[in-house]
Amino acid sequence: MLDAPLGWDRATVVHPRSMEIFEALGRTDPFLDQGVKVRAARFHSGGETLGELDLGLADSRYCFDVGISEEVTESVLTANLEEHGGAVMRSTRLVGLRSQPDGVAATIERNGEHREVMASWVVGCDGFHSAARELAGIEFTGTDVETPWAVFDATLDGWEEEFDVNTAYLDSPPVILTPLPGRRWRAYLRPTSDSNDLVADATEVIHRYKPEVTLAEVENAARFRCHSLVAAHFRSGRVLLAGDAAHVCSPTEGHGMNTVLQDAFNLGWKLALVCKGVAAPGLLGSYEAERRPVALRVVESGKAVDAGQGMTQQEERAERNAAIRQTYADPDLAHHEAVAAAELDRSYAGSGAVAGDSGNGLGPGDRLPDTPPVHPAAGSPCALHELAHNPDHTLLVLGGPEAARATSSTWSAPSRTRTRIRRSSALSWAFRERRKIRRLAESTRPWPISSGSRT
Ligand SMILES: Cc1cc2nc3c(=O)[nH]c(=O)nc-3n(C[C@H](O)[C@H](O)[C@H](O)COP(=O)(O)OP(=O)(O)OC[C@H]3O[C@@H](n4cnc5c(N)ncnc54)[C@H](O)[C@@H]3O)c2cc1C
Repeated sequence: MLDAPLGWDRATVVHPRSMEIFEALGRTDPFLDQGVKVRAARFHSGGETLGELDLGLADSRYCFDVGISEEVTESVLTANLEEHGGAVMRSTRLVGLRSQPDGVAATIERNGEHREVMASWVVGCDGFHSAARELAGIEFTGTDVETPWAVFDATLDGWEEEFDVNTAYLDSPPVILTPLPGRRWRAYLRPTSDSNDLVADATEVIHRYKPEVTLAEVENAARFRCHSLVAAHFRSGRVLLAGDAAHVCSPTEGHGMNTVLQDAFNLGWKLALVCKGVAAPGLLGSYEAERRPVALRVVESGKAVDAGQGMTQQEERAERNAAIRQTYADPDLAHHEAVAAAELDRSYAGSGAVAGDSGNGLGPGDRLPDTPPVHPAAGSPCALHELAHNPDHTLLVLGGPEAARATSSTWSAPSRTRTRIRRSSALSWAFRERRKIRRLAESTRPWPISSGSRT
């Protein structure tokens, strides 16, 4: 563990699904107050505009990415932990793990001194070089990305376009501009050599489109290499992996930290129930079953996007550009891309922890929708997710226009208990297709809802 949080940090994009997680924690304000809302991504190549990914199509109340330093994200989560009685102990390293019948003996090193502590469970969220992963003997498989990446932050003097749209120039070298707070930009590029001038490389490409723009106040220039790796398992006995310890991907689509957050959200409540003795340890098996497929998908998608960006042959570029044009000109494909970019299409329907038939509509394991208007049987109209923001199980009873309000009011606590849906089901319904939203909204309008909860 580092002595202090990193300064201006790596991830600058928070996706809509992560904003939904922050909302569940009551922590969206710092992101909305300090970040910049990024509503779209525009793709260019060969001097032309190919298309635009519009996050407004993503079926979330957070229909935008938030551009903000990972340093802020980390500080928000640290504050949340401290408010719940936890603490971050810095300058302390995990150096050994010994499996015990009812726990793990973890050796930690601090100021040169070693100490062994007994833990019921160990979660290795110790990054790419994870000691927990190594000590648990879990393989990290995949490939290293050969072409290096580079990054720097700058002001674009003379930039007349919007400050809330990602801009990708899919040329040679590819350059991607991501908005930061204060009308600053983070520029990602594949440098032309190991020692070239990064700003000159990026400027050359930007000038093909906007000769009037000058890059100024350049900061945080760095070169880095990427990897496409996923741990063979996310759990070995009482050791679990989360975040970069479990998967690393190209930064192209900004999925890294977002996937990390969603791992933690998925694992956190399960581990809490197991530690309290409310759930059996078997529940933890669903963590790998739900999250590892997401990691594999993110890694594969990053590789595909990297390959597309790195194309140098005229013919393959023409084919790629035609595919991008076609995608964003087609309403269904454009919607699909927006939902995927927002990370709202993750479904845990195949997990052993959920049961039941999805039929034609939403089913167990799908993300709970949030945009259809909700009129609770008692209380004011609200967003559906708001009804599930509690640490207990939440039962949502959906009724159509003909559903008698009296029916829901007759639900008693014991019957709620018997028919409860687990929190995972309630919170992780995913919208894979727009028609599901329509079907749900049509079948339930004006949607009297009653909610009950228990642990
Ligand atoms: C240039 C760049 C840009 C990126 N942009 C984005 C983006 O826009 N959006 C996005 O979602 N992702 C992005 N990512 C990825 C994102 O930064 C990572 O996925 C994320 O930081 C991983 O978080 P983590 O907590 O899993 O690991 P880390 O942030 O690496 O944290 C691991 C922690 O564990 C500690 N540690 C290490 N070893 C030990 C040990 N033995 N004992 C105890 N502690 C230990 C470390 O000190 C560190 O504090 C980007 C990555 C790069 C390189």
